[in-house]
Amino acid sequence: MIEIKNLHKSYVMGKNSLHVLKGINFEVAEGELVSIMGSSGSGKSTLLNILGMLDEADEGSYMLDGVPIKNLNERIAAKYRNKFLGFIFQSFNLISYKNALDNVALPLYYQGVKRKERVDIAMSYLEKVGLAQWASHLPSELSGGQKQRVAIARALASNPKVLLADEPTGALDSQTSYEVMDLIQGINDEGRTILIVTHEPDIAQMTKRIVNLKDGVIIDDTRVNQVRALSHV
Ligand code: ADP
Ligand code: MG
Repeated sequence: MIEIKNLHKSYVMGKNSLHVLKGINFEVAEGELVSIMGSSGSGKSTLLNILGMLDEADEGSYMLDGVPIKNLNERIAAKYRNKFLGFIFQSFNLISYKNALDNVALPLYYQGVKRKERVDIAMSYLEKVGLAQWASHLPSELSGGQKQRVAIARALASNPKVLLADEPTGALDSQTSYEVMDLIQGINDEGRTILIVTHEPDIAQMTKRIVNLKDGVIIDDTRVNQVRALSHV
């Protein structure tokens, strides 16, 4: 599903350059649930943003579902992002003046799906994350865990091949984190490929494979026996 080879990324600020990714190689097969770990500043978000086509590497290759991701114009990039990728962020990134249903429906609007169908699809995903009765509520009326569920429903609405989550439990207490991880595990059980950036070891143990980043390279890449989040809930 994902294949990256010798990926390099530097940030240039004036005369200074910070070499953040120094030759990353890895592959993710369809259906995997992978965590990317590493201390703060180790380049986890940089890597995820490149995988999410929000940023481009300086060097190396990236294949996503057999498509080489390189030098795409913004229109094509947006099309691929929409088709292949769903994003989940630590800070939820919901639109504050839109209710839960409209937040979930938004990616479908950008895909040109008609209003009635958008509402039906969005509602089905809100049901899936257990929030159907909160459809007309604004984000400000939802708890952190509920907001993240809405964000997950939004990420799923366009039926992407891969979900990318950057510290999805970073703003949540432990109990709520495990509930969100239970939802993520359930989505992965259905076969969806998911990558999660986290610096929390207990969250990483709930994935099936842990990739450790340090000083711009992968220092460890290990399959683990997945801990079910429900055992903590
Ligand atoms: P992590 O997500 O692991 O905490 P990041 O990928 O966000 O790490 O950042 C890696 C390094 O790159 C950090 O030192 C950070 O300050 C730097 N960095 C990240 N984004 C930018 C940017 N847009 N411009 C300059 N430096 C950046
Ligand atoms: Mg980060």
